[in-house]
Amino acid sequence: MNVHAPILQHASVSEALNKWLSHDRPMLIDGRWEMAASGRTFDVHDPATGARIAAVAEGDAADVDRAVKAARRAFETGPWPRMTPSDRGRLIHRIGDLILEHADTLATIEALDNGKPKTVARAADVTLSADMFHYMSGWATKIEGRTIPISALAAPGMELVSMTRKEAIGVVGQIIPWNFPLLMAAWKVAPALATGCTVVLKVAEETPLSALWLGQLLLDAGLPDGVVNIVTGFGETAGAALAGHPGVDKVAFTGSTEVGKLIVQAASKDLKKVSLELGGKSPNIVLGDADLDLTIAGAANSIFFNHGQCCNAGARLYVHDSIYDRVVEGVAQVAGQIRLGHGLDEGTEMGPLVSSVQYDRVRGFLQAGRDEGAEFMFRQDQAPEGGYFVAPTVLTNTNPQMKVVREEIFGPVLVATPFKELDDALIAEANNSVYGLAAGVWSRDTGRALSVANRLRAGTVWINCYHVFDAALPFGGYKQSGWGREMGEAVLANYLETKAVTMRIG
Ligand code: NAP
Ligand code: MG
Repeated sequence: MNVHAPILQHASVSEALNKWLSHDRPMLIDGRWEMAASGRTFDVHDPATGARIAAVAEGDAADVDRAVKAARRAFETGPWPRMTPSDRGRLIHRIGDLILEHADTLATIEALDNGKPKTVARAADVTLSADMFHYMSGWATKIEGRTIPISALAAPGMELVSMTRKEAIGVVGQIIPWNFPLLMAAWKVAPALATGCTVVLKVAEETPLSALWLGQLLLDAGLPDGVVNIVTGFGETAGAALAGHPGVDKVAFTGSTEVGKLIVQAASKDLKKVSLELGGKSPNIVLGDADLDLTIAGAANSIFFNHGQCCNAGARLYVHDSIYDRVVEGVAQVAGQIRLGHGLDEGTEMGPLVSSVQYDRVRGFLQAGRDEGAEFMFRQDQAPEGGYFVAPTVLTNTNPQMKVVREEIFGPVLVATPFKELDDALIAEANNSVYGLAAGVWSRDTGRALSVANRLRAGTVWINCYHVFDAALPFGGYKQSGWGREMGEAVLANYLETKAVTMRIG
């Protein structure tokens, strides 16, 4: 194992974290910390500076195979399947407690690795991750089948009892993106544990660190060996190997729609079950009677939160023309006041994009908008030098055919469009997307807003609020935004099989 000089001088990086970062970080396989069989590692960067902050194992197909075999053993013969639901629930709850105990370190890691402000990581990512384990711990004891009266023909006098059992689907391969690294791990791992599955988690190459820290917390909580295995590596190698591995019963993926389609292809070879959380281009509709202050702050937050790197970002703003100018200028003003900086610096409200790839991609979209005639309302001069910063941007004078209106940008870029009437044409335009992940409606007339919400083809609709997530609320997409739901009771279906048992009792 290579040891590097600790490179971080920042006050909020503790000595323990600095030491942890200075050693090549291994993967969690079968309860042990292991480097890749190939011996290779890859570097992890701070997107605010481009500096290398750590190196992690470059897992590939051979390591995925080891991890899947460990998960299979843990599922078939380990202590995990024999544990009582209440013991399993207590263990899952303990993981939530440990996340809160390590909240400051986890938030620091997220700020360093992903670029988001530490304050945001602490308040959102870490809190919601702990909530997810705490919430899911309660489900471990509540996974119930039913008894079902049946009418099937039976011989005279024959008495039958039929029931369903909900059983763990088995070994689950989980693949997650970089926008909420710890939270995406929590959304995936917690319900899989509640249902009694075992897991191989492939984390995003851009942001592998918080999941590795979580891995130690899983061991500290007493999770048996092999129940959760965490592989670091690239999508094309480790991710593809996991999605196509014959020892995996189910693949749960969060990421782009493009890669989601590759996952489906890989899983179709042996018809693995698949659930997908994919991209979005969510409409945010402001009716003429909306509360202006609430709406301006909410519309800005809907697109600029997490630097626009949210699958559910309110990326298409439709505003009634009676208040269009005021709302759009208000959002642009909020954009101009957002303080960009290093995620660990006090006062930072927005960090850099996660990588040079995303930086180039988002700037490519801005160029496309310019070429297609969109007008820009933003203050670009404040983006700090050196990292992958893109200042929050509002585009006006757009039309439904433009690339910036049609495609997911995944950056802090809002496209705004006025409308004259709340009519079928507006609803049709809001629904005019291959995606259907989320939507927002702003109005003082909540009855009218609810009627709009009912007509939007999206898995989540927020009225007079946005980005409200809760472990109890199902989240997922219509159309090409995904298959299945994360969180809430609904996510359990991703990890359970239903068995019908019929017994002759007389
Ligand atoms: P991505 O390229 O789809 O990557 C997601 C994950 O898939 C990463 O771990 C990636 O590995 C892996 N991967 C890439 N190619 C693969 C392959 N051929 N086989 C198996 N795995 C593969 O997405 P991203 O750029 O990281 O994230 C941004 C996208 O995710 C956006 O489109 C966003 O909308 C979507 N997203 C959706 C949700 C949701 O809940 N619906 C949440 C977050 C993000 P590497 O890291 O090595 O590339
Ligand atoms: Mg990638």
